[in-house]
Amino acid sequence: MLSGPSIRRNPSNTASFERGTVFSLKEVGVSYGTTQALRNIELCVKRGEILFVTGPSGAGKTTLLGLLAGALRPTVGSFQNHARDFFISQVFQDLRLLMDVSIRDNFFLAYDSYLYESKTHFLANLLELSKVLGFEDKLDLKMSRANGGLKQKVAIVRALLAKPDIFIADEPTSSLDFESAEKIYQLFNLYNTKRNMTIIWATHNKELVKGFAGRIIHLHKGKLIYSGHPCFI
Ligand code: ADP
Ligand code: MG
Repeated sequence: MLSGPSIRRNPSNTASFERGTVFSLKEVGVSYGTTQALRNIELCVKRGEILFVTGPSGAGKTTLLGLLAGALRPTVGSFQNHARDFFISQVFQDLRLLMDVSIRDNFFLAYDSYLYESKTHFLANLLELSKVLGFEDKLDLKMSRANGGLKQKVAIVRALLAKPDIFIADEPTSSLDFESAEKIYQLFNLYNTKRNMTIIWATHNKELVKGFAGRIIHLHKGKLIYSGHPCFI
């Protein structure tokens, strides 16, 4: 699978969507057999919000993202997805890149003629993004030869090229230094400002997002124990 669930826009629905809530969860729990991955989650995500989901390994971050992206259903509680008609693009923890082809082909194989006037426009956008993240000279490198940080950058750019309304990224910068993570945050922030893109970014490293503007929710053993500004956590 190259990208997240392909839910196409329904323009007639845009106005109400922009004003409102994208996801709402009430008393939501998710279990895998006897393991309770999420318990009693109360959460509302607004259109255009930047939301960081933090918590240690096993806290339930990936499960929460899977729920929001529509890959999982709650075991208990109510989950409302008001974003049904809009496009969600995901960066998965395992990245889901094509290892046997070049970085360039990882982008072009995900090309969608619905989104771009032509392949030239797509390439221009791709070059711009790869320049911002500093890998424009590596487009012909075979994907399998890229290091962990470069793979993450490719997965992020591929997801952004799909022009999502909602961008869900699971540990998108875990192999990157702070400087690169900051660049990626700035890029997300730009898309957030320009396109009102909702961003949901999970990370086990809460120190990383402390200086970023947005809202943070902190999970611990499946419970949501903090919601607020990153600098107060
Ligand atoms: P995080 O992303 O914060 O590391 P996860 O959502 O991956 O947390 O996992 C939350 C809990 O659910 C952990 O205890 C994990 O072992 C368990 N878990 C996650 N996925 C599965 C699965 N597919 N089957 C069984 N248990 C799972
Ligand atoms: Mg995870």
